Amino acid sequence: MRIDVVTLFPEWVGQLEQFGVVGRGLRESRLELACWNPREDADNASGRIDDRPYGGGPGMVMQGPPLAATLERVRAARQDRVPVIMPSPQGEAFDQRRAQSLAESDGFILVCGRYEGIDQRFVDAYVDIELSVGDVVLSGGELPAMMIIDAVARLLSGVLGDSRSAVQDSFVNGLLDHPHYTRPPMFAGHAVPEVLLSGDHARIERWREKQALGMTWRRRPDLLARCDLSMAQKALLEEYIAQRRDEHHGPFE
Ligand code: SAH
Repeated sequence: MRIDVVTLFPEWVGQLEQFGVVGRGLRESRLELACWNPREDADNASGRIDDRPYGGGPGMVMQGPPLAATLERVRAARQDRVPVIMPSPQGEAFDQRRAQSLAESDGFILVCGRYEGIDQRFVDAYVDIELSVGDVVLSGGELPAMMIIDAVARLLSGVLGDSRSAVQDSFVNGLLDHPHYTRPPMFAGHAVPEVLLSGDHARIERWREKQALGMTWRRRPDLLARCDLSMAQKALLEEYIAQRRDEHHGPFE
């Protein structure tokens, strides 16, 4: 897969190559990343590509022509028709399902906004998908772009050390993940749940699924409402709820 990023800070986005599993995936060419600076397409010697907003008001707006020229360079280099994605607080929510579908694609082009955003005519003419990483405003599209690249890259085959990791993660099956424990056996006054030391894999699986269901029930009832639980899962969740009720002796959360 190949991902291209149009950004005023190519050195920053390019640092993805240096860290963690995604960095290794890039170095091992499981994923190709290319960054493009629209300043190189400015119509002035100082590389300025923003201007004051029509209609007045604070802030600056990224201009359409240089971005269109940069995109043309990217298209010429790729020679395919992958979608153009713009991180934007006004976009659709970026979630695990979207990450999965992007991971199954041939790649995409990310265009990072800065300042007050990008001239709407560029968005209308060139952007296929707008994605938001949350109801919060960041100073630029670079961190959202890196977040999208990271989430997608770790789903590509061979990027995670153990491909089973991605299958167990939160959201993959519509539920939050179960809790994880490692050595030492005693920490902060608490022992590891006994079942995890039992060596009984069926019991461990059952316990983990129960915790995942319980955690989702407590923290993300909205996710649970969208889940089509099996009879076995419903029974496990009932068990979790009953146990918690006993432990808390009465009403809780
Ligand atoms: N004036 C805009 C915010 C511009 S922030 C508004 O109020 O909607 C500058 C750039 O940061 C945006 O163009 C976008 O690329 C990026 N950005 C900021 N917050 C974001 C978010 N929650 N999700 C995705 N991209 C975001």
